[in-house]
Amino acid sequence: MMVYNQSMNNLPDDPVLALPPRILLGPGPSLVDPRVQRAMLAPVVGHLDPAFLKVMDGVQQLLRLVFETQNELTLAISGTGTAGMEAAVANMVEPGDAVLVCSSGYFGERIAEMARRYGARVETLRRPWGQVFDPDEVSQALQATNRPRLVALVQAETSTGALQPLEEIARVVHAAGALLLVDAVTSLGGAPVGVDRVGIDICYSGSQKCLGCPPGLAPLTLSPAAVQKLESRRSPVTSFYLDLSLLRRYWGPERAYHHTAPISMVYALHEGLRIVAEEGLEVRWARHLRNAGLLWQGLEALGLELHVEVAHRLPPLTTVCIPPGADDLGVRRRLLDEYNIEISGGLGELKGKVWRIGLMGFSSRPELVELLLAALRKIL
Ligand SMILES: *Cc1c(COP(=O)(O)O)cnc(C)c1O
Repeated sequence: MMVYNQSMNNLPDDPVLALPPRILLGPGPSLVDPRVQRAMLAPVVGHLDPAFLKVMDGVQQLLRLVFETQNELTLAISGTGTAGMEAAVANMVEPGDAVLVCSSGYFGERIAEMARRYGARVETLRRPWGQVFDPDEVSQALQATNRPRLVALVQAETSTGALQPLEEIARVVHAAGALLLVDAVTSLGGAPVGVDRVGIDICYSGSQKCLGCPPGLAPLTLSPAAVQKLESRRSPVTSFYLDLSLLRRYWGPERAYHHTAPISMVYALHEGLRIVAEEGLEVRWARHLRNAGLLWQGLEALGLELHVEVAHRLPPLTTVCIPPGADDLGVRRRLLDEYNIEISGGLGELKGKVWRIGLMGFSSRPELVELLLAALRKIL
């Protein structure tokens, strides 16, 4: 066993100092904006320090802007995107509730699994990975469900590269008297989400995808109808850490301690959101779309086939079919070793079939697209 305290001279080389600065073009984390990195160097203060509370207020205001919502209950959950997902499910599901999950990918399945664990009667509407749902089939599935309380969808399915349209589905869900829960982990800051415009009741995201921050915080917002559901629960939320009725007392005027906020990550998110606001939402969405377009064109020029039809492609994340004869792992290994570029393989049923290329936040830049295409041209 390695014993650290015998002598300072025996310390092994520091693996952290040896970390290479990678070019992150996978499904997340994406490159961290240098301004965000600098913000994280600000002094750590107490979680109830008036100076820190101002940062929290700023985060809430900026999140409302980026989510496009007036929702009062808008905050950041401590944890990655999955913590946002679990907070959404844990707070909105009570044992016995009927929940319809529309799943055409890995993250849709994850929502269904969580809802089952929190005691929901889960109905799953499925489509092949890479496709999207239309309002009519959701409406039919709702009619076949006994008293549906909640419908969950992934807007930006990072496992498949498909972007789910939401406007009409929101109308269908509300007409059935249910709430709409949307995973916007890979869309927020990279493609329109529009919580109030669309009519999303529960929406969550992650700091590490299109917001240009490290992994560690999960933005979340609840509509007034979702808050009403929270307040009329018959049973307390099983998870103490993710209980929004407690968390809102820390993020709101009461400032009641619940858990120590991850201070430096809150600085990071604040700066990441400021950058989004400075760039402007529409300009930012257009940048993601433009750079994705360059990538799609370039991949097709290399003779590669894209997995999702163009009408439903997700600009922040592209799935490209691995060409016959190419070695999935070998190609990714060479990209990393020779070009310092990270892309990712397929998840679940697309494992071995596609590569996943992310152009998210600070990673969405034309020169990085050119670099990746040049590297792929050499390797393939
Ligand atoms: C990345 C991702 C998650 C999970 O986020 P983690 O940061 O890995 O916990 C959930 N949903 C979608 C759509 C994602 O892309």
